[in-house]
Amino acid sequence: MTESVQHKIIILTAPSGAGKTSVKSRLLNTLKKELSFSVSATTRKMRGNEKEGVDYHFINEEAFKELVATNSFVEWEMVYQGLYYGTTIAEINRIWGEGKVPVLDIDVKGALNVKKKYGNDVLSIFIEPPSIEVLKERLIKRGTDSEENILMRINKAGEEISYKSMFDRVVLNDDIERATSEVVALVQQFIAN
Ligand code: 5GP
Repeated sequence: MTESVQHKIIILTAPSGAGKTSVKSRLLNTLKKELSFSVSATTRKMRGNEKEGVDYHFINEEAFKELVATNSFVEWEMVYQGLYYGTTIAEINRIWGEGKVPVLDIDVKGALNVKKKYGNDVLSIFIEPPSIEVLKERLIKRGTDSEENILMRINKAGEEISYKSMFDRVVLNDDIERATSEVVALVQQFIAN
């Protein structure tokens, strides 16, 4: 694998409930040899089906602040009130060290910060939900968030959609199969060059 491939970054960003997680797992499955998921650190509580070190590194606020103080993050955000999420430099280096391209599933602001830092070495893809209504339905169906939480995510989604023009590519998730194929094609093209 060439030097330039090793130092690329792929970002998937979207409002919560836009189907980003499904697109992400399908992408990672399709391009297993080339890509690796960048596991973020977060202070939010683990959901039932999640695993430590696979979905996130679940840490407390004190440990998170220590990572901030030691400049250990590529980027970090308080994505929701009181809940911190961040991409560590160590995680990105670990993946580059394996000769793979990290895939970051991060919020809109974090994505813009990484893009600013790494420029053309980054492919940032915004997954657009068909509508706020569909988004709401998906979050309710997922059944992992409280009513208050869903409302918070919906409010944030409106704001996030307004940033979509700032990303390299926008993929409409009206159909999961179609959206995934589009993302896979974009990623293949990006890592081949
Ligand atoms: P969730 O709590 O549903 O897993 O994630 C909430 C949001 O946080 C999602 O939009 C997800 O992409 C974002 N997120 C996850 N990890 C990171 C990270 O390391 N940095 C930033 N900025 N956002 C993240």
